[in-house]
Amino acid sequence: MLTGQCFCGAVRYQAAERIRNQTLCHCTLCRRTTGAPAVAWFTVATDDFHFTAGEPSSFRSSSHATRTFCPRCGTQLTFADDDSPGEIDVTTGSLDAPEQALPQSHVFVADALHWPDDLPRYAHSRTSPSGDS
Ligand SMILES: [Zn+2]
Ligand SMILES: [Zn+2]
Repeated sequence: MLTGQCFCGAVRYQAAERIRNQTLCHCTLCRRTTGAPAVAWFTVATDDFHFTAGEPSSFRSSSHATRTFCPRCGTQLTFADDDSPGEIDVTTGSLDAPEQALPQSHVFVADALHWPDDLPRYAHSRTSPSGDS
């Protein structure tokens, strides 16, 4: 069983381990709705996914899709496409153990930001050795 929650913990969910389509999405909708350059997702059957605490809010992110998020802290949690009613996509970053859904592909690379990847790397913040952020 996979479990996850929003940042503040008001909304929790569980999903069966029968997941697929683990991917990093670079589309402009994922970018705009999260503020992140790319978003990791996995797909699970709707029958295998349940919210176990709290009540997410939702909005239409296109004419055919609905996204949910925590109304208190804003963490985006799910994506459901009207054209695929039997399945739901879940943000990998909201899992309690994101390593359980390792991305296997990149999608919408045509929309990806072309940022350099050879930047300096710091174990924590550039200025704080404590790791606080
Ligand atoms: Zn929350
Ligand atoms: Zn996307």
